[in-house]
Amino acid sequence: MKLTKINRGGKQSLYGTFLTMTLLPLLLFGLITTVYSSLSLRNSMIEQAHGDLQNVADAIQVMYDAVYAGDFNVLVSEEETLLYKGETQLSGDYGLIDAMKEKTGLEISLFFYDNRLLTTITNAQGERYIGSGASETIMKTVYLAKEPHFFDNVSIGGTRYFAYYTPLIASDGTTCVGMIGVARKAEILRSVINRGVYQYLLIVIAALLVTAAFIAGFTNKIVLVLKKIMDFMKELADGFFYKTLDPIVMKRTDELGDLGKAMVKVQVALRRQIERDPLTGLFNRRSGEKRLDELQASRQPFALAIGDIDFFKKFNDNFGHDCGDEVLRTVARVLSDSMGKQGFVIRWGGEEFLLAFAESTAMTAGVKAGEILQKIRDTKVEYNGISHSVTMTFGVAEGDSDRPISEQINAADAKLYEGKEGGRNRVVV
Ligand code: GH3
Ligand code: MG
Ligand code: MG
Repeated sequence: MKLTKINRGGKQSLYGTFLTMTLLPLLLFGLITTVYSSLSLRNSMIEQAHGDLQNVADAIQVMYDAVYAGDFNVLVSEEETLLYKGETQLSGDYGLIDAMKEKTGLEISLFFYDNRLLTTITNAQGERYIGSGASETIMKTVYLAKEPHFFDNVSIGGTRYFAYYTPLIASDGTTCVGMIGVARKAEILRSVINRGVYQYLLIVIAALLVTAAFIAGFTNKIVLVLKKIMDFMKELADGFFYKTLDPIVMKRTDELGDLGKAMVKVQVALRRQIERDPLTGLFNRRSGEKRLDELQASRQPFALAIGDIDFFKKFNDNFGHDCGDEVLRTVARVLSDSMGKQGFVIRWGGEEFLLAFAESTAMTAGVKAGEILQKIRDTKVEYNGISHSVTMTFGVAEGDSDRPISEQINAADAKLYEGKEGGRNRVVV
C-alpha cells in the first residue's frame, strides 16, 4: 500500500495520531488480557496439579496399607537406616513407587520423620536422593501439624517442584511417623503456561498488525481526500477558479464530502465575485471579454449585439440613482432570461449590454434582438409605486473567427449609434 504524503515540514500527522489512538489502547488491552489469562491459566494448572498430586499421594498410602500390614517404622544401624512397614522391609523395594511414577510422571518419596528413605527422585548420575531431608517449613506444616499440604515452590536437589505432602499416621491414630511426598517439576507447568502466553501474545500481535494495516488504509483514504481538498484550495488561493474538485471527494457522503462541497461553493462564490457584475449578476466586462475570446476560438458562427437603454439618464435624474439601478437590474434579468442557452449577456458599460449569440448569423441575431426588445417594452419597472416603461436600442454585427473581436464590437457599436441617431427603440443590423 502506498501511503499518501502531505508535506507538512515534519509536523504531527494523521497517520501517527490515528495509529496511536487505536493501537495504544489495543496494545494495553492485549497485554492486560495476556497477563490476566496467564495468571488464571497458572492458577488453574496449579489447582489441577494440587488435585493430581493429592490423588496419587492418597493412592500410594492406600496401596501400602493394602499390601503391607502394620505401621511404618525404621531399623537404624551403623551403616544405614532401613524403612519397614510392619514386618516388611521397604527400603530397596522400588517396584510400587517406580510403577506409579511411570504411570503418572510424578516423583514419589516416603519419609520417616524428615528422612527421605524411599524415592523415585534421582540425581544426574541416576542415584536416588535417599537420606535427604524435608525442609523445616514442610516439617512444621505437615509432620507436626499432621495435616496434608500442597506447596507450589519446593526445592529438591536444586530443582523446583510443586509438591504435596501427606502425614503418615501410625495405627494408634495420633502418632505421625513420616510423610508421603508427591512432586511434579515446576518447569513442566511453566513451559505450558509460557506456551499459553506466547499464543496470547501472537494473537495480540496479529490483531495489532491487522488493525494497523486497517487504520493505515483508512487513514490513507482520508489523507488522500484531504490532500485533494488542500490542492484545490491552493489552486483557489493562487487564483485558479476553474479547477474541478476530484470526484473521490465529491462522491463522499460524510463530513469530508461536505467539506469538499463547501469548498466548491467557496470557489463558485469567488468566481462570481470576480466574473460577475454585482448589481445585475451578469458577466462583467473583464470575464465577458474572456468568454468572447473563447466563443471566437470555438470557430462556430456567432453574432454580437450591443444594447443601450434609451434616455437612461432620466431615471437617475428624475427618480434617483436607486431607480436607475432598479431599471438596470430589471433589464439585465429580461436580457439574460431571453438569451437562455443560446448565448450570454455581458454588462459592457453603465447602461450598455453586449449580447453574444452562439450558432447565429447577424440576421437571426437581429430577429432575436427584436424579440428581446419587445419583451423589454412589455416589462414595467416598478419603483416607489410608479411604473416605468423602458426601451432600448440594439446594434447587431456578424461575428468572424478570423478578425479581432474588437472590430466586430466596433461594428455593432456603429449600428447602435445608427439606431440612436435614427430615433432609438429599435434594432439595427
Ligand atoms: P441615450 O438614449 O443616448 O443612451 O441616453 P442615456 O441617458 O441613456 O445615456 P447617457 O450616456 O447620457 O447616460 C448614461 C447614464 O448612466 C450616465 C451614468 O450616470 C448612468 N449610470 C452608469 N452606470 C450606472 C449605474 O450603475 N447605476 C445608475 N443608477 N446609473 C448609472
Ligand atoms: Mg443610454
Ligand atoms: Mg450609453
